[in-house]
Amino acid sequence: MPGADTSPDLRLAEPSAPGRTDARGHGDGAPRSFPRSRTHGRSHGVSPLPLRTVAIDRYLETIFCIAAEDEPVRPSRIAQWLGVKAPTVSIGLRRLRAGGWIQTELDRRVTLTAAGSDAAEAIVRRHRLAECWLTDLLGLDWASAHLEATRLSASLSDTVLARLDISLGEPRTCPHGHTIPGRTAPYGELVALADLRPGAVAAVRRISEIIEHESFELLRTLAAAGVRTGVEVTVEPGGSADEITLAVGGRQHAIALAPGTARMIWVEVVGPSTRSARDGHPWAE
Ligand SMILES: [Zn+2]
Repeated sequence: MPGADTSPDLRLAEPSAPGRTDARGHGDGAPRSFPRSRTHGRSHGVSPLPLRTVAIDRYLETIFCIAAEDEPVRPSRIAQWLGVKAPTVSIGLRRLRAGGWIQTELDRRVTLTAAGSDAAEAIVRRHRLAECWLTDLLGLDWASAHLEATRLSASLSDTVLARLDISLGEPRTCPHGHTIPGRTAPYGELVALADLRPGAVAAVRRISEIIEHESFELLRTLAAAGVRTGVEVTVEPGGSADEITLAVGGRQHAIALAPGTARMIWVEVVGPSTRSARDGHPWAE
């Protein structure tokens, strides 16, 4: 049960690594501002934070990911994300609050404290680097990589993680395009695929964490259709309100996507105009 603290976990935040530059967003030369030890004690040295457990880490990661999708982080959404019942989440959140990891606002929204945010970034960084390892070095597909990283990332020591990071060329994103905390995204302004006009050419940059987390099959389907980060797609004319037709990787084959799915795939426009589809101007001028 995700809400149960069955397995004590004494992990510290990861160390930062020296910079280097490479393709696919590997190494950005940005300052490594990654926290080292704030997960275990406030910098002013008054009352040290309690050690994190596997359960606490899952909550922190969940809160971080929901917030990153610009969704309000409410207990009901956390329960849905974790697949547990509301009372379990209430107990879990009480524990996180007592530990100084989160705050609950008057409207019941949950926010991370500074310590909670540092800890969440460390957890997410670990998960995303593990995914890079699984896809880039071990050849797993991006659907399996997410699941496997969930299982094994907690067991990677800081030493192994630092070595992995270097051997991967210090990637800036995970295979799904999410920025690794402490690094900068290797892409510019993103728009939802659903907002592209017919004829627009765009490069897939990021797949919503919601798809990654909640729809293993959809990830598989997208990968099978050639939709992955870095691939260029074109919105075909003649789509309907229920379906967007997409040419993937140079029009060899087209796929149909429901608008709800297209709303969770983030792309960078590369042509025929550099103008965002959201600014209200037609593509062909
Ligand atoms: Zn990922």
